[in-house]
Amino acid sequence: MEIKKITSTLLASNTYILIKDNSSIIIDSGAKLEDVIKTTQGTKVEGIFLTHGHYDHSFNSIKYSKNFNCKIFASKEIAETLSNPSKNYGDDFKINNFEDFIFFDKEGTIKTPNFEIKTYNLPGHSKCSVGYLIDDIFFCGDVLFKRGIGRTDLFGGNKAEMLSSLKKINNINFKLIKSGHGEESFYNEQIRNLSTFIKFLSR
Ligand SMILES: [Zn+2]
Repeated sequence: MEIKKITSTLLASNTYILIKDNSSIIIDSGAKLEDVIKTTQGTKVEGIFLTHGHYDHSFNSIKYSKNFNCKIFASKEIAETLSNPSKNYGDDFKINNFEDFIFFDKEGTIKTPNFEIKTYNLPGHSKCSVGYLIDDIFFCGDVLFKRGIGRTDLFGGNKAEMLSSLKKINNINFKLIKSGHGEESFYNEQIRNLSTFIKFLSR
């Protein structure tokens, strides 16, 4: 599997394109459609997966789903955030028609023809935050960064929930973690970071 990253002009959010043979999936949708078209060229896009509803991660999702004719997978908690600019922080950005969406609430495995995606509910940064484990790579949105954790003071944020989500990540077996902003990081460095963040939030 090959992973390509496009860093968007929307608060420098990351959009990830995972490519396997002639198939691909997309994680988050801040990147411009033209850039995603170029990056996915020669592949069939099997799905779009949103880590949460803040506009810098969800802005172009409908454009992608219409263009690639595929579904958008997201937590069922996301609708409230996407339909309200004061909750997704995107000026006048809102989505009211969810026909292209497939919502999930329970953790489990989503299978597209060529990808297997394990889902984890990770509230704390937002109620609709989820992580996706694909092979041994964990896509965690804005929950955890190379050098920090996501804000908990935005709509739907919650410190106690963030603490539980970090504890949950602590028990996931991953090799690499790819965040919603910034660089990737390795299991060993994150396990050290996580114990510090957990201590900090437990005070
Ligand atoms: Zn966010």
